[in-house]
This record gives sequence, structure tokens and C-alpha cells, in this order.
Amino acid sequence: MKKKKQKKNPKFIFIVGGIVSGIGKGITVAGIGTLLKSRGINIFPVKIDPYLNRDAGTMNPFQHGEVFVLDDGTETDLDLGHYERFIGRSLDRHSNFTTGAVYETVMRMERRGDFLGKTIQIIPHVTDEIKRRIMNASRTKDTDAVIVEIGGTAGDIEAEPFLEAARQIHREQGAENAVFIEVVKIDYVFPSDEEKTKPIQQSVALLRSRGIQPEFLVVRCKRPFSAGNKEKISLFTSVPKQNIVEAIDVRTIYEVPVNFRKSGFDDLLIERLNLPKRRKDMNSWRNLLGRMKRTKKRISIGIVGKYVDHADAYISVEEALKHAGFHAGTNVDVVYVDAESETIKKELAELDGILVPGGFGRRGIEGKIESVKFAREKKTPFLGLCLGLQIAVIEFSRNVARLKKANSTEFDEKTPHPVIDILPDQKGVRDLGGTMRLGAAGIALKKNTRVRELYRASVAHERHRHRFEVNPKYHERLERKGMVFSGFSTKDKRLVDFIELRDHPFFIATQAHPEFKSRFLEPHPLFLGFVKASMKLKK
Ligand code: GLN
Repeated sequence: MKKKKQKKNPKFIFIVGGIVSGIGKGITVAGIGTLLKSRGINIFPVKIDPYLNRDAGTMNPFQHGEVFVLDDGTETDLDLGHYERFIGRSLDRHSNFTTGAVYETVMRMERRGDFLGKTIQIIPHVTDEIKRRIMNASRTKDTDAVIVEIGGTAGDIEAEPFLEAARQIHREQGAENAVFIEVVKIDYVFPSDEEKTKPIQQSVALLRSRGIQPEFLVVRCKRPFSAGNKEKISLFTSVPKQNIVEAIDVRTIYEVPVNFRKSGFDDLLIERLNLPKRRKDMNSWRNLLGRMKRTKKRISIGIVGKYVDHADAYISVEEALKHAGFHAGTNVDVVYVDAESETIKKELAELDGILVPGGFGRRGIEGKIESVKFAREKKTPFLGLCLGLQIAVIEFSRNVARLKKANSTEFDEKTPHPVIDILPDQKGVRDLGGTMRLGAAGIALKKNTRVRELYRASVAHERHRHRFEVNPKYHERLERKGMVFSGFSTKDKRLVDFIELRDHPFFIATQAHPEFKSRFLEPHPLFLGFVKASMKLKK
């Protein structure tokens, strides 16, 4: 009789943050994930966001950073972008949930009468729902370990139910199957710049008061801290000295897994959780980093946007450009160009490539149109993403096809030429939460086009997040003037997903968001093409 392979239960790695927000938990998860993956361990990351929004979809990137979209259309926190870029695994809706989503489920169950007249409480009803979601994620196919990042900072009121649920999982799954890692930082007092460990001590004490003893500390620091301080941290927190991982500031986040490896973090975790011991393979990662450090070349790419003072609003675009740069052998300096700047033309003239990213609302539109015109006329490589495609179509309609005042109905409802519009079957969708064309979809790439050449395939799969489309009534007119519609949705053949111009070194725009699919080890073909074209301009 054939013996059935016994399935091992997955392990649980909980990451919590102490002291301050924005301490780098997301990159820590991505770093640990990369490391374990390089040891042949399949990990599935989960990010818990303690806010009440049901998902990140309605959140302003200006305040919260970019909304990252998954293949299945889930609109998530930008940390999921780091996870995918590092780990190289496409995630799904099980990878991200919020307090709002948890409460929504619990309230729906309450209305349905599922609780049979009981009083609904945070413990056990809310915590049970949190546990159910984490356990569900752990059942994702081929998962050896889930890494659960609890957003926010230990001590936040919002994070309490999640800490409690994690504590319960630790208890129920057995200490040998679950571990807590806390990300903290050394404090430096000025003017002496002296290292202080007190905030670390206090923040671990706070976790302990919730019944959680972290077994590892990832300590953010500017420089290696003194042996005495390591001793002190260990003494006050009961974390063994070898489990205190120094996370010294790095030039690029992609160094994090390599540094974790140097401190033996992977061996410690594998040992602690009794994970399978498999081969080690970080070579391609290391080689790429090394190549990048050696390159002297630089190009500057301008991102023309309106959220220019929020660094995280375009984080996936920026990372996709960097990935392409690493592979093409150049540093990419990303320059933010304010679409409302009065000196925009001067700023554009200094660039090797111009990129118009996604966006919503009327602000800055005319400046973006100016930028596309500049790129088209001056033959500067241009890449348009989502709104960037719509802007390129508006610019071409106005300035080449002579359609006066052509616009998108998003910005001008009364335009005589609505070249960008909501299509009839999408009209009536007015609710702002979750009503867009979302998630990955097939795009048929036309023969003899640049995009087909770049993708080296006849169909591309890209993620979407938008409401408006190129108006099919204008396709023919614009094509006659020389705009090439090089990709259409495989499902709905009227929907334009790619445009390009001939007689230009690189002028391509897409209705999709290819930036979401670029990874450190696998740059995206469009970005690679764009960066290479921009390097040529430089010569
Ligand atoms: N505002 C445009 C739309 O809704 C573009 C969206 C985007 O760039 N993500 O279609």
C-alpha cells in the first residue's frame, strides 16, 4: 500500500513592532521571507492592519502611501508590495486584512444570528475571527511557515485584539510551532549621540504584560552597538544574546536579507521552529547587489505627479525603476516633478526619461499633459501608467488629432471630445469603495509592436485599478493620426490596455499597473525597456 505523505502543520512567525511606527517591520518580514525562501522553505506572509477601513482601497496615498493591488484585485497596504518584490510570490486576499474587515464579518454573523443570542465580545468573538483568518492563510498551498506582521506599535489600542489572537495561536499551536519577533530600535540621545536601550526594555516589558515574550529582537541601529549594550538588552528582555539581531541602516533595502544571513538569523529560526533543513541559495541575490554597487552609471527619471512630497505614494514605480536599473547596469535617480510647478519645462529638460504614473482627480492634469507633449516632441523616453495612458491619449488628441479641448470626463464632464470616458456598462457605479476594474487580466498584444517585442509574448497579464477607459468612438480617428493601440483586454476587446508611438525612441503607455509585478530578481520588461532607452538618450 502506498504510504500517504504526512502533511506537516505550518509554523507561525509573528512580527510585532515596538517604540515607534514605521520602524521597518515590513522590510523585516520581506527580509526574513527571502532568507527562508533561499533555504527552500515556502513562506506565506500576512499583513494585519489595525485601522477601521475595510481595505486600503479608499485610503489616500498622500497620507498612507500607495495602494498595492494583488492579482485577485485585493487593494492592500504597500507592505504587500515589499513582500512580493522580495519573496517573488504572488499573494492573494488572505495576505492582508484590517480591523474593519474583521468587525464586518463579526457583525454580519451577529445579524445572521450565528451567535445564538450570546453577548458579542472582543474576546472571544473578534479574536476568533482574527485567528480564523490567520489559520486560513496558513492553509495556503505548499506553505511551511506563515509570517504574520501585526501593523502599528505594541501598546496601540487598535493592536490589542491582534496581539491577543496571536498569543492564543502561540498557546494552541504549541510553543515549538510559533515564535514572536519584535522589531525595535536603539535610541540615540543628542548631542552626545549616546546609545540608549531603555525604550527597548520598556517596549518588551509591555509585550510581556500581554502574555507575549519575544524570542528574537531585530534592533534597528545606525552602527553596531556595544557588546555591553547587547548584554544589557538581553538581561532586561530575557532574549538570548545570539537572538538579538543588529539591523544596521543600509544603502538599499535589498541588502537586508544578506545582512540577516550574516548574523545567522536563518539558522536560528530554522533551528528554533524545527523547519526542514534544505540547501542554501542566495547567489543570484548577492550577485545582483554586487553588480549594482559597482556600477558608476546614473540616469535620472522624472515621475510627474501631484503627491510629490509623499515618498511612499509611488513606491512600486520607484522600485520597478530601480530593479530595471540593477539589471540594466545603471543607478536610477528618481526625480519627483511637481505637475503644478511653474518651471516644469526646465525640470523636464534635465531628465533622461519621463514617467507619468497613476492618479485620480483633476489636480495637476494640465502639467502632466505638458510633460507628455514635451516627451513626445523632444523624443525623451516616456512611460505612462494607468492615468499616464489617459493623459497620453488626451495630449495626442488635442495636439496631433486636433480635437480641441479633448479630455477625460473625470476632469471635464462637458468636454466636446470625451476621449477618455466611463463606458456605458460601467456607468451608474458611483460608490467609491471597490467599484473599479481591479486585478490581473489578460492583454492581447498586437503583432509588430514594441510591447510585443518587449514582453516576448502574445498575451500579457497585468493588474488594473481604474474606472475610466479610452473611448472606443475615438479609436479609429486616433489610429489614423498615428497612435498605435498595441494591446487590448482579452476579455473585452474594446478596452485599450497599451498604446505606443512609432518614430520615437520609446513612447509607451498602459492602462494597467505593471509596476506591481516587478521583482528584485525579475525586472519588468516594460521598465527594463524604458530604462534601457533612457540610458541611450544619456549617451
Ligand atoms: N483616474 C483614472 C481612472 O480612474 C486613472 C486611475 C489610475 O491611474 N489608477 O481611470
